[in-house]
Amino acid sequence: MVARAARATDLADLDGAVSDCFACPRLVAWREEVARTRRAAFREQEYWGRPVPGFGAPDNRTGPGGSGGPAPTPAAAPRIALLGLAPAAHGGNRTGRIFTGDRSGDVLFAALHRAGLANQPTSVAADDGLTLRDTRIFSAVRCAPPDNKPTPAERDTCAPWLHREVGLIRPTLRVVVALGAFAWAAWWPVLRDVYGVRPPSPRPAFGHGAHWSGTAAPDLLGCYHVSQQNTFTGRLTPGMLDDVFARAKLLAGVD
Ligand code: SF4
Repeated sequence: MVARAARATDLADLDGAVSDCFACPRLVAWREEVARTRRAAFREQEYWGRPVPGFGAPDNRTGPGGSGGPAPTPAAAPRIALLGLAPAAHGGNRTGRIFTGDRSGDVLFAALHRAGLANQPTSVAADDGLTLRDTRIFSAVRCAPPDNKPTPAERDTCAPWLHREVGLIRPTLRVVVALGAFAWAAWWPVLRDVYGVRPPSPRPAFGHGAHWSGTAAPDLLGCYHVSQQNTFTGRLTPGMLDDVFARAKLLAGVD
């Protein structure tokens, strides 16, 4: 798996390869069980039930796994990356696109649209026409985990996919927004493996609005995760998301 990730020559190649990953027995069993049993509201739908690749500039894939659908919309290479935890069981694991088809995605893409980074405020299905500008979204773990909690071993097993994806967009990437503490922690190994930069010690603490800036690597911004737990309780408001994306754009030099 590590070798397959390292061999990926571009994002489309990486997207296709990760979609065929079976490296974590517990997560493979869970993603497939969820796809088999389904939530009542989606009983008529065919679930994706596989790893969920990154999404956004420059390929803006229009079909699960990068295959099928119309040709990709040309878009600028990403200067901003959003790093999440893992796909949701009935969101990305159902639709095949990250943050698509669930409440977290509703909040996230509404904010990206307000920021001018998405062409529409909703993300409901992989063929809904959504494209991102200057922005790519991916997760630290590519398969939906039970209770949204991957184990440390699963996080480490999945890391090569994340590292290769960052490596492929490294020439243009300027800012990474970590959605939650898990993503924040997942960034430090990227720093070492992709950029050859020693992670700071002690590690900067995660917090909403936290900012780490190093030389020879993208800036890192902390943002509370767009989970319902945060957005329904008001811990994360639309205004707070707007502030984070305005800051990310400024740091990345995106108009
Ligand atoms: S979590 Fe990552 S490494 Fe594990 S099976 Fe899914 S894609 Fe493969």
